[in-house]
Amino acid sequence: MAKKYVYSFDEGNKDMRTLLGGKGANLAEMTRLGINVPFGFTVSTEACIRYYDESEQLWDELVKEIEANIKKTEEKVGKKFGDDTNPLLFSVRSGAVVSMPGMMDTVLNLGLTDVSVEGLAKHTDNPRFAYDSYRRFIQMFSNVSKGLDVEKFEEILADERKKAGVELDKDIPAENLKEVVRRYKELYKEETGHDFPQDPEQQLLDAVAAVFKSWNNERARYYRNMNDIAHDLGTAVNVQTMVFGNGGDNSGTGVAFTRDPSTGENILYGEYLINAQGEDVVAGIRTPSHISELEKQMPEIYKQFHETGERLEQHYRDMQDLEFTIDDGTLYILQTRNGKRTAQAAINIAVDLVEEGLRTKEEALMMINPNDLDQLLHPTFNQEALSKATPVARGLAASPGAATGYISFSAGDATLRNAKEEPVILARTETSPEDLQGMDSAKGILTSRGGMTSHAAVVARGMGKCCVAGAHEVHINEKEKTVTIGDLVLGEGDMISLDGSTGNIYHGQIETQDPELTGKFAKFMEWADENRRLKVRANADTPHDAQQALDLGAEGIGLCRTEHMFFAEDRINAVREMILASTKEQREKALAKIEPIQENDFYEIYKVMEDKNVTVRLLDPPLHEFLPHTDEEIAIVADELGVTILEQKKAIDELHEVNPMLGHRGLRLAITFPEIYQMQARAIIRAALRVSKELGVEVEPEIMIPLAGDPRELKVVTDSIRKEIEQIFEETGITLNYHIGTMIEIPRATLLADEIAEIAEFFSFGTNDLTQMTYGFSRDDAGKFLSQYLDDGIFEKDPFQVIDQKGVGQLMANAVKLGKRTRKDLHLGICGEHGGEPSSVAFCDDLGLDYVSCSPFRVPISRLSAAQKTIRDRQHKMTRLVESL
Ligand code: ADP
Ligand code: MG
Ligand code: MG
Repeated sequence: MAKKYVYSFDEGNKDMRTLLGGKGANLAEMTRLGINVPFGFTVSTEACIRYYDESEQLWDELVKEIEANIKKTEEKVGKKFGDDTNPLLFSVRSGAVVSMPGMMDTVLNLGLTDVSVEGLAKHTDNPRFAYDSYRRFIQMFSNVSKGLDVEKFEEILADERKKAGVELDKDIPAENLKEVVRRYKELYKEETGHDFPQDPEQQLLDAVAAVFKSWNNERARYYRNMNDIAHDLGTAVNVQTMVFGNGGDNSGTGVAFTRDPSTGENILYGEYLINAQGEDVVAGIRTPSHISELEKQMPEIYKQFHETGERLEQHYRDMQDLEFTIDDGTLYILQTRNGKRTAQAAINIAVDLVEEGLRTKEEALMMINPNDLDQLLHPTFNQEALSKATPVARGLAASPGAATGYISFSAGDATLRNAKEEPVILARTETSPEDLQGMDSAKGILTSRGGMTSHAAVVARGMGKCCVAGAHEVHINEKEKTVTIGDLVLGEGDMISLDGSTGNIYHGQIETQDPELTGKFAKFMEWADENRRLKVRANADTPHDAQQALDLGAEGIGLCRTEHMFFAEDRINAVREMILASTKEQREKALAKIEPIQENDFYEIYKVMEDKNVTVRLLDPPLHEFLPHTDEEIAIVADELGVTILEQKKAIDELHEVNPMLGHRGLRLAITFPEIYQMQARAIIRAALRVSKELGVEVEPEIMIPLAGDPRELKVVTDSIRKEIEQIFEETGITLNYHIGTMIEIPRATLLADEIAEIAEFFSFGTNDLTQMTYGFSRDDAGKFLSQYLDDGIFEKDPFQVIDQKGVGQLMANAVKLGKRTRKDLHLGICGEHGGEPSSVAFCDDLGLDYVSCSPFRVPISRLSAAQKTIRDRQHKMTRLVESL
């Protein structure tokens, strides 16, 4: 039997989304559930894939299958496609496997012709409606199938609006609409050289092919790249009986979420328009009414809709995003899908679903993409700064968050200025899918038209980007590049601030602050903690960062860098003296100045962290980074050291290195100048002793030596530190437990890890350096060529962001294996950037590391990633168990 490519809505279900696309699978599922869905059929994604294999032609068997399904639909609906008096009309809708809202094209009212439009007018006794439907069809078909510019059609429509003396399309009388249709067809002929097609079946096949083609249009490709969606999935095409929201005041159309997609609150949330069709709601031309109005306007319909929403939510066990149309008092559901939501709403909904008994905690944890937590962790306006600011205008609070930036009037400009690291706010009357990249580049988005479900609002929420939409008082002139609010006229050089949670717009820049993470978020994260094996620490260098890390759930500090401490104003000159000292005495004198300050640094951090683990890394960067630059700075140090400025400059020159990354840094400094690490070790131990005593806790310092590549060099340095520490114990008569370990960041160390582990009590993988040394390219210079590697697909992921499991990962695995062979209880962690990236966290779990350490703001992301990894492992185990039975 020939392969099947077309499925009618009563042949599919929700689990067939790979084949039918998300929209098609859900239309079939709703049909199965007996929900009022206009009947139709789905041309599968496999047909789309074959279409590309057939050099973009529809083949005969496919056409036959489509024809058979037209017949089946005609029988169900009781109307005939191509009928001259009461025609069956179709919508042709794209529907990919992964939802790509607004990315691909739809054609409505397909099947209308010069003859049947008259029939429809007579049959419904509503010529206005018939010609309104026809003009929409001609425009959509011309755009989707023939690529004609929408603008030209809109101009004609605007012209007829003006002639008729009305403001809204719905008020254009039939006579003018007829004229619109005539002019549209004329335009079509001018542009294509052909008459507008009058054969409904040809219209349909053309539209199907056009939807297949739209899979590969530029904005669809961009969207897929941005969202990591594969390009070879193909799209399905849904051909569905038209129902009409534009037939009069007993009809309408709308979209609604079963819960508030910004906050997650369990209320019906959406918008509708009376006497309108499809896209009118999202297009932002007329401002729609809130769904709660419908309860007053059409109570029976509202009740039905509300019940259907609840039923679908129970069925899918998730918040739904619905499209509906009311056709002369009858409610139809045109689409359902799991609704996009802000990260905040996602957490709130996940927690609520568990509490409502619809989901288990594990399922709730799996519902959130760890990276999305980032949105929650972004700053909001500083309340004090905000209270002093007065909004100059207000729009809809379309997507929460705070943003400040210079005004940008086009997507292209926003992209350019973002590349120059200039913060911009994209200001547009309304946005369209072409603006995607610009929206992605902007800190926030401001539109003067459109509602809560306008393109700008929906896309911004998906991106986790602050958006204020539909700000009517704001006049945005994209040509002149001005934003006018009353008397205030702003341009490209001016800054504005947006509050996506209130809709307020401010002139100028407003300071931002960190978010508070309590309530449902805290509960959700607790569930994550119950489920993970891997511990999560943070990279923090100051008491402030340490506190923030604790607040975000870190269990310790995996990397406390000491170099920034050296830069602080109260000691930088002493540091310079130490570096430029020509004798041991001079150096010790300088170090003696630094030591008490350094001890206090650690004291403050231990006081915050108490008995939680803190891994302090001894000085790592090349010394010349600390050198004085200006003559004035040089003079101060020269004076203290008793040398001339000339001698001083010479000493500075001598510290110059050709390749400092591979130069005199890390533990190599301690080989030549053991006093530095000795001083740091004493400071750490003394601070730990003080805090232990004062707080009555057991601080157990972890001292980490960077950049070891050889067991003997590590031993020399470790011995010298240990001696220093033992001496303090002797002097004070008190001891504490401490550990000396090393970073594993030089490939050679991974190969000799068994010997290294004889000296080091713990390993912490420094995967930033390990990556750059394994690849042999510098992370400071790689930007120049790495982007090309990524664009050309030579590398799939940036290895500085996502661990290269094949190469770098192999070295890590080797180090774990060898290290454990020597020391069974070797403690293992990672402190590179990768410790906050979900797939790398999962990899670290597989390697059997004890913890990951990442920047404080990524701690929740790592906590959730680790939990999801454990849950996935558990699920796999279950599956294997079931299979073995
Ligand atoms: P998108 O993915 O961009 O939302 P859709 O295919 O869902 O595209 O449809 C675009 C608009 O057309 C939506 O508002 C939808 O409700 C409307 N629409 C689609 N099919 C029909 C139909 N059979 N009858 C009436 N309106 C429809
Ligand atoms: Mg839709
Ligand atoms: Mg390093």
